[in-house]
Amino acid sequence: MIELQSITKSYTVGTEQLDVLKNVSVKIEDGEFVAIMGPSGSGKSTLMNIIGCLDKVSKGTYLLDGEDVSDYKEPDLARVRNESIGFVFQQFHLLPRLTALKNVELPMIYAGISKDERTERAAEALEKMGLEDRMDHLPNALSGGQKQRVAIARAIVNRPSLILADEPTGALDTKTSRTIMEQFQRLNREGVTVIVVTHEPEIAEYANRTIMVRDGEIVPSASVERKWGAP
Ligand code: ADP
Ligand code: ADP
Repeated sequence: MIELQSITKSYTVGTEQLDVLKNVSVKIEDGEFVAIMGPSGSGKSTLMNIIGCLDKVSKGTYLLDGEDVSDYKEPDLARVRNESIGFVFQQFHLLPRLTALKNVELPMIYAGISKDERTERAAEALEKMGLEDRMDHLPNALSGGQKQRVAIARAIVNRPSLILADEPTGALDTKTSRTIMEQFQRLNREGVTVIVVTHEPEIAEYANRTIMVRDGEIVPSASVERKWGAP
């Protein structure tokens, strides 16, 4: 479970202190599928970076699975990220000189998993994403949707309990976006917590709950709950 308790994130710009997130409290249960929406500059990426242990709170407490990570320094944050969280980005962030298979193997290298097991698990993750015939392709030889499915395979290969996706469909057409959201939906139904930042209401509909951010705060009345995501 994710529990942000009155967290504030501030940056010092020149002589001014800028509160990018102000006293934000959020609880996300295991197995939820949450969309984070809000205007550009409202603090969505900052919120994702904090949830993903890529960034630290300035004030307040962040409990991740009961572990207080608020004061963790980089080596411990890196451990939490590697053990518990899978990341998916708008621009895929695949290494261009590595095949799909090698890209998916990367997080397991950091986790110290043996070569044979890496290859086996990477192939398994790519098969799960319907890419069994694309494993030896370089990213440039793949379509946008295929690249994003490689990125999702990379995100799930260490079997994280949480997937964070920052505008995962921002570089994709509508039809491809749907196929990507269906993959997240499938993973969520298998028990993975999924959090997606998006500008697009039709993408947010795949989630069971929408959290609205505005000017660094959560807008309670604008947060939507749904029993089921889009089909
Ligand atoms: P969003 O993802 O909703 O577009 P961000 O979280 O990226 O919003 O940014 C929220 C606000 O914080 C913006 O005004 C942005 O300029 C500011 N901001 C983000 N990162 C920094 C930083 N490292 N230093 C100063 N200001 C920042
Ligand atoms: P954009 O929306 O501008 O294309 P992305 O969504 O691709 O940006 O990336 C969001 C943020 O995540 C960036 O600020 C970047 O610094 C960070 N990031 C990108 N790749 C990684 C990675 N592999 N591990 C950790 N952080 C990353």
